Amino acid sequence: DSKDIDSEVESICPFCGVGCQVSLKVKDGKVKYVDGINGPANEGRLCVKGRFGFDYIHHPHRLTKPLIRREDAPAKGLNVDPENWQEFFREASWDEALDAAANGLGGLRDTHGGTAVAGFGSAKCTNEEAYLFQRLIREGFKHNNVDHCTRLCHASSVSALIENVGSGAVTATFNEIENADVAIVIGANPVENHPVAATFFKQFTKRGGKLIIMDPRGQALARHATHMLQFKPGADVSMLNAIMHVIVEEGLFDTQYIQAMTENWDEMRARLKDFTPEKMEPICGIPADTLRAVARDFAGAKAGMIFWGMGISQHIHGTDNSRCLISLALMCGHVGRPGTGLHPLRGQNNVQGASDAGLVPMFLPDYQSVTEDSIRNHFTEIWGSGDFSDQKGLTVTEILDAVHEGHIKGMYILGENPAMSDPDLNHAREALAKLEHLVVQDIFLTETANYADVILPAAAFYEKSGTVTNTNRQVQMGRPATQPPGEAREDWEITVALAERLGLNWGFTHPSQVFAEMKKGMKSLDNITWERLERENAVTYPSLSPEDPGQAIVFSDVFPREGGRARFTPADVIPPDELPDAEYPMVLTTGRQLEHWHTGSMTRRSKVLDAVEPEANCSLHPRTLKMMGVEPGGMVRLITRRGSIELMARADRAVSENMVFVPFAFVEAAANVLTNPALDPYGKIPEFKFAAVRVEPA
Ligand code: SF4
Repeated sequence: DSKDIDSEVESICPFCGVGCQVSLKVKDGKVKYVDGINGPANEGRLCVKGRFGFDYIHHPHRLTKPLIRREDAPAKGLNVDPENWQEFFREASWDEALDAAANGLGGLRDTHGGTAVAGFGSAKCTNEEAYLFQRLIREGFKHNNVDHCTRLCHASSVSALIENVGSGAVTATFNEIENADVAIVIGANPVENHPVAATFFKQFTKRGGKLIIMDPRGQALARHATHMLQFKPGADVSMLNAIMHVIVEEGLFDTQYIQAMTENWDEMRARLKDFTPEKMEPICGIPADTLRAVARDFAGAKAGMIFWGMGISQHIHGTDNSRCLISLALMCGHVGRPGTGLHPLRGQNNVQGASDAGLVPMFLPDYQSVTEDSIRNHFTEIWGSGDFSDQKGLTVTEILDAVHEGHIKGMYILGENPAMSDPDLNHAREALAKLEHLVVQDIFLTETANYADVILPAAAFYEKSGTVTNTNRQVQMGRPATQPPGEAREDWEITVALAERLGLNWGFTHPSQVFAEMKKGMKSLDNITWERLERENAVTYPSLSPEDPGQAIVFSDVFPREGGRARFTPADVIPPDELPDAEYPMVLTTGRQLEHWHTGSMTRRSKVLDAVEPEANCSLHPRTLKMMGVEPGGMVRLITRRGSIELMARADRAVSENMVFVPFAFVEAAANVLTNPALDPYGKIPEFKFAAVRVEPA
């Protein structure tokens, strides 16, 4: 009822990469409820997280004052009770805390060189904040050891896309599915993780579109699918190569498209020769006839799309998985037309934008290589500062290894929670404890803040101004609905103040000024201005003119690679890093569930969401539970070579009998204590989706 509210503010949902536009209804300085509005991605729809996951911003655990670790505090890493933190930290003024942070990080730089300090930024921050964060590390510490959670998410997809298509972003918006005849969704569970996108996928099937789901785990969208391929975990390449083998063998490929738009086809064809469906059937667990039927349906369609998620990317062969999907689309000519395209579904609401803004160790904004002198020169000109390293920086997991080795001694962590999100948590937490100086900037006392020397209280997304870019390449405007609590400040403001104390006088007083600077180095933002976003809420990049709402589909006639063609890169079968054996006989896989967001720091403080899903849980097949003598709802212990956790077991036929699925949102049974840190060699993404595990009654 509009009479019950003081104001309405239009912003963007802070959770997943769909980027739903919301209207925040505010009363007495608090968000009371949230409605969906007509954004280009959501068309008025919202999921349970967008609708109910807002009250964490008013939670009493919010950080309201800067904190500094007490000299007599107990050891770093002990769990700090958010209601009883005084034993570990003392309140400080902003001046004192910023001085302590700058002296700590700046002191390490001056004593050991800039590479002694690294930065983790966040895909939960705005584009402007991501841009400033990478600028701080590059300009202030003269190197590229700056990364963010894309490393744990789609880094391998991006490396394959840049290699073979020339750009890491999607070639078509997910809404293009309305023009498709067939769509593959592989290694993704959109009903839980991109729920509003899933509603468009369901509509597509209602009007006769053929949906093909491929995943080792069953899912709700399979009810709408023409084919559900529940393949063996880790067998992606063998299954996809077999499908492509059929397309070659039966001549279903698009010769004209291949000749006009691609390169390396002959090698691709030759390399697929041995991957017959019959040979691959026992490896991937999908009958040869089904592989043939899927090949015919996908290649025979006028327009097809491929969507994928972390099930593809979080493997040591994640880049190979994406290479296969790219090749599959290219050989069928399913790129660059209405209803066609490659779409890795982005996880966080600004993982696309944070990556675009240069929050990665190998690229400056717009994926321009740090190794190219002319590009570095362009940015140092924009920044008015001296050169920085031409060496690619270290990635998230490599940075923590470098802490163990003693090369990195200080970190600035903004909105990331590596003490929960990184693989092999015991190793990650030991690294955080070793740091000589750690500055954590966040909205709550996260598990990572347990290791901090200085904690800087930040504004939540609904308390700040800034742009974010969703999975569809839509740059959208976020607006503040309420004031940050206490003395908390917007992240961009804190980074600017810290930079000043490190000797960088940027002079930004509003994010619009940062956006204007970003445009100088980012062609992707041509024709997109702050004022335009204020007016229109969203513009898709690339936008060809100040009136163009942006291109939903790209690469119709040329790819942004040398020569203008896309490339086929064949992939061979590489087994997962850690296979089940007699001691650890089952397969562990991790992920998210509908109600909780990533490490749970926000959604577990949202009343409705936490009420719906309050307890750490895992999914096991009913027969597996029966064999162990555990009732559904009983406790089990999961043990890998890296650690063990205990949690409640659910009976779930979606997982096979040799598999256990664990969501990673629950600190009391942190899934990443178990996960394998082995990396994909190209994207440097850990193998979260496969580890050998033993399950026993607890
Ligand atoms: Fe938010 Fe994603 Fe749900 Fe939309 S689909 S409301 S962006 S969590």
